[in-house]
Amino acid sequence: MNSESTPKIVSNGNSALGPILKTGLELQAMREAGRVVAFAVRKAFDALEQGITTRELDAIARGAIESEGAKPGFLGLYGFPATACVSINEEIVHGIPGDRIVRSGDLVTLDCGAIVDGYNSDHAITEVVGDSTSEKDNLIDTTRKSLEAGIKAARYGNRIGDVSSAIEGYVVPRSYELVREYVGHGVGKRLHEPPQVPNFGTSGQGLELQVGLVLAIEPMVNVGGWQTRILDDEWTVVTADGSLSCHFEHTVAITEDGPQVLTVE
Ligand code: MG
Ligand code: MG
Repeated sequence: MNSESTPKIVSNGNSALGPILKTGLELQAMREAGRVVAFAVRKAFDALEQGITTRELDAIARGAIESEGAKPGFLGLYGFPATACVSINEEIVHGIPGDRIVRSGDLVTLDCGAIVDGYNSDHAITEVVGDSTSEKDNLIDTTRKSLEAGIKAARYGNRIGDVSSAIEGYVVPRSYELVREYVGHGVGKRLHEPPQVPNFGTSGQGLELQVGLVLAIEPMVNVGGWQTRILDDEWTVVTADGSLSCHFEHTVAITEDGPQVLTVE
């Protein structure tokens, strides 16, 4: 989740492990974890309006998760102090909820996880509060559709590189840049499991996707350059050039019938 949750923590923590395939029973728990987090994120966005604080959004997400008998997946993980990451405008990921007041025109990303029976889900959505612009609408549309393209490529027998290149192939022709230092990942008993799922790459390369693999696919798209930096709070990742950034994420199971999005109500 902080810089450590980038590719590094995934590979350092699990370098000896291959992909972790889930049984039907495990997938059942993950489907429920996905449903709960989708519910929680929707509840927070239902309340999103100018004047609300990011801490209030976080409290809504936490309340929704706990009302379903689940646990927040991010709270305390690597020391993160909240249930949701709330990232605004040039913030890409890992924004810490607090006293910041949401303004009209803000591009707000909520990234959240829930745990059910020990299994994680991971989900992010971006929306504009109040008055938007075509620049912001296009950024959101491109990021959302690049996630859809990545999910479509997450088929049994394909490879990680097919998912990566589907995302990159959607975003790059539209003159945006994809964050390179933070990537998607496997999900399961741990929020971050192997394999890494970069948002750029070459089709036909990388790990072959097997039935039972569950991936968090999460394009992070910048209006300007791909470079990032971390604020003094040691969590919030922003675009190095201050340009707007957008993030969508779904937890997706590879099944015999194709990719199945778990983070839906
Ligand atoms: Mg996430
Ligand atoms: Mg993730």
